[in-house]
Amino acid sequence: MKIQNFINGQFHDPILNNWLDNYCPANGEVYGQTPNSSRIDVENAYIAAQSAFPSWSQTSFEERSKILIKISELLETNLQRFAEAESKDNGKPVNLAKTIDIPRAASNFSFFGNAITQFASESHESVGHQAINYTLRQPLGVVGCISPWNLPLYLFTWKIAPALATGNCVIAKPSEITPLTAYLLGELCNVAGLPSGVLNIVHGSGATTGQAIIEHPNIKAISFTGGTKTGAHIAKIAAPMFKKLSLELGGKNPNIIFADCDYHDMLDTTIQSSFNNQGQICLCGSRIFVQSSIYYKFKNDFVHRVKQLRVGHPSKKDSQIGALVSKSHLEKVLQYIKISQQEGGNILCGGSKVAVKGFENGYYLEPTVIEVATNACTINQEEVFGPVVTMMPFNSEDEVLRMANNVKYGLSATIWTNDLKRTMRLSDQIQAGIVWVNTWMMRDLRTPFGGSKASGLGREGGFEVLRFFTEPKNVCIKY
Ligand code: NAD
Repeated sequence: MKIQNFINGQFHDPILNNWLDNYCPANGEVYGQTPNSSRIDVENAYIAAQSAFPSWSQTSFEERSKILIKISELLETNLQRFAEAESKDNGKPVNLAKTIDIPRAASNFSFFGNAITQFASESHESVGHQAINYTLRQPLGVVGCISPWNLPLYLFTWKIAPALATGNCVIAKPSEITPLTAYLLGELCNVAGLPSGVLNIVHGSGATTGQAIIEHPNIKAISFTGGTKTGAHIAKIAAPMFKKLSLELGGKNPNIIFADCDYHDMLDTTIQSSFNNQGQICLCGSRIFVQSSIYYKFKNDFVHRVKQLRVGHPSKKDSQIGALVSKSHLEKVLQYIKISQQEGGNILCGGSKVAVKGFENGYYLEPTVIEVATNACTINQEEVFGPVVTMMPFNSEDEVLRMANNVKYGLSATIWTNDLKRTMRLSDQIQAGIVWVNTWMMRDLRTPFGGSKASGLGREGGFEVLRFFTEPKNVCIKY
């Protein structure tokens, strides 16, 4: 199949006719081609977006809201088709795409369709000066949204929906590794009545298409989710042009387990936070720290549970772990396992590729648990982004806090304890944008979402992202 760009409400081949192969991770075969769009395609998308902006930015919030909610409903109606497409492209179990990815993409549109109806600006009465100030929140113009492959439609729409809700026109690029659901979204936008040119979806590699978007002098903001290295590169290009930047980057998140936690709940959730989506979620708790008094019990129980996880073809209902996204990513993850062994890491389970019967060329890996002796080892310091977690014991709160913070990233953290004072102390001192206590990845879309340190810049979610996609303008009236 051939994926096409969605520009000005129509589907187009890339002007220079350059294409990339799309692989199906479950069997390692090429299933189609996606455009590797050039600067010319990006410019065409820009012209369409720029022409649509005057009208879209003046469209009433009720009308924008209605269209976004319609897109959400259409995604729900097309749940099965989108879930199968996401699974085919990414290797994740269809069940996961059907219960998490696509429903969340639908909620992104309905959430921001509703949020825009409640988005208010401030006013300040300057008492004693007979003046009043009020703040206009105006759309930025044409903005760029660039997303990764791990939660393809989920993260793509997490950016697009608030950008559109606030009256911007968008040039969006999904990951070239997982372009299929973004391609299918274009058609739904037309059915929902989104005017032509308001959303333009341009496909291609980061180096070619992504680079053309970030270098475009008239694209006012870049909302990016992806790797920390790419984020740093984007910041370097965008800063001299004073583009607004939102960067959601990598993580190396601690999962801190105290002896006084609700053990069974913790164990069930830790399986999820370690291996959900093949461990390819920026929020996964890849460094597990366990209080020494329960360390051996936890180690036995956890490894026992991990060994029972079923790795299999993503379309099979009982597969809990599907395929990794690509051959090169599988090799990268295996390389990290090897480095860890060389540094003295003890593999408690997993560590090897899995040959799934009938799909031997698929990119499957056993869920892997490695016991490490120090938080300073490579696998505890670098993001692996696969079904691999490490574990080690700790003795005191101070010690675990030091280890939790002793990493360049600061995205999220999970703490398992029933001690309220300890919860307050640790939540206060952990360097992370998101702290979960006795839970993991419980999301409320109104909350600020993002990381500190090398995990990024700015926050998405709720009114935070509506502020990002608007320019505040103060008006002062003396009366
Ligand atoms: P990546 O940085 O390689 O690519 C992300 C996107 O950026 C892709 O669309 C890619 O084509 C594009 N890109 C690459 N080079 C570019 C360039 N020079 N100019 C413009 N665009 C460019 O990341 P990935 O491998 O797709 O995703 C995995 C990473 O994403 C992990 O590090 C993970 O932690 C991170 N991530 C972070 C969050 C978060 O919310 N913080 C969420 C999901 C994933």
